[in-house]
Order: sequence, then structure tokens, then C-alpha cells
Amino acid sequence: MKIICIGRNYSEHAKELKNEIPDKPVIFLKPQTALLKDNKPFYYPEWTSDLHYETELVLKICKQGKYIEEKFAHKYFEEVTVGIDFTARDLQSQQKAKGLPWEIAKGFDGSAVIGSFHQLANLGKKTGIHFSLQLNGIEVQKGNTDNTLFNFEKIIAYASQFFTLQTGDLIYTGTPAGVGPVKIGDRLEGFLEGEKVFDFEVK
Ligand code: ZN
Repeated sequence: MKIICIGRNYSEHAKELKNEIPDKPVIFLKPQTALLKDNKPFYYPEWTSDLHYETELVLKICKQGKYIEEKFAHKYFEEVTVGIDFTARDLQSQQKAKGLPWEIAKGFDGSAVIGSFHQLANLGKKTGIHFSLQLNGIEVQKGNTDNTLFNFEKIIAYASQFFTLQTGDLIYTGTPAGVGPVKIGDRLEGFLEGEKVFDFEVK
């Protein structure tokens, strides 16, 4: 499986990082080894001193497709959760300044946190999904998928032009404003429509 991530999909977050508002989805990938699930602890890497959480709604792809049309894209995901796209902001800034790829700042082990998945059918909605993150019991980030620049269907249509989507692939759909640093000892809890989907510690 692969992990597809969308950057700058909420205009307020693009602004907070002083990025331009994109006219097409910004896509990057993480390897399977980036996955961190089942509330396992995240171990803070020694090569960064500015590790940020980015809380994101995550789709799980349920069937294979290539060049998926936007109008059929809803058939390609049935389950969603909340995840964290951990980002070594210091490394990312260095790479961006040199015009180099981001992978080392985004695709490292444990950088793709995933909560427990919920059937969209059970959520009772496919749009306007609320999600949030608590850091040590205080809400630090919240989003609503209605505020994306590119909705799920547009992302799937665009990404599948380049990458065949396969069952089990994950799509991180971008972070709203409010990203920030974590430190060793922090507890992170993610919520999907008010229900807790992950709860882990930074060690
Ligand atoms: Zn992200």
C-alpha cells in the first residue's frame, strides 16, 4: 500500500506557512514504513528539533482505479479516520529553501499516524466532517472538510491520473490551520465527529 498526502488543502494553513494557494492539489507520498497505528507511541527522532503535528482527515481506498472520474470517485472510499502527518518543519524548511524534495521531512518512520477507521455510512455524512486534535487535553487544531480547496472527489480524480489507487491505500487530505510543535512526553488525542479515534504519547 501507499500513502498519498495532500499539501496546502486548507487556505488558512497555506497562509500560516506563507505558501501560495495552489490551483491543483499538491501531492507527496509517504512509504508504508511511515505508518503508526494502534495507539503505539511515537519516538521523537534525534535529527529534528521542530517536529510538528498536522491533523488530517484520512480516506482508505476500497478498490483499484486509475483515471477515476470525479463523478465516480465517491465509490472508491468507504472508511475514514483522523491521522497526523508528522512533519520535521526544520528539515522541510531547509529542503524548500534549496528547492529539494521533502521526503526526509515528511516520510520518516512513524510520520503517518492513523486512528481507527469508521464507515462513512455510519457517520451519516460525506461532507462537512469535523475532526480535531487535543494536545495534553487541550484542543489545538480543528477542521471541517467543507473548508478544503479540493474535496475528496477532486483529490481522487487528480491523484489517480498519476498513481493507480489500490485497495488499502491511504489519502491524507491536508491540514487546517493551527499546526504546531510537539515534545517528548506529550499526549495526542484525535477525534472524528467528536469520537476519539487515536490516543498516543510522544516518547
Ligand atoms: Zn499534511
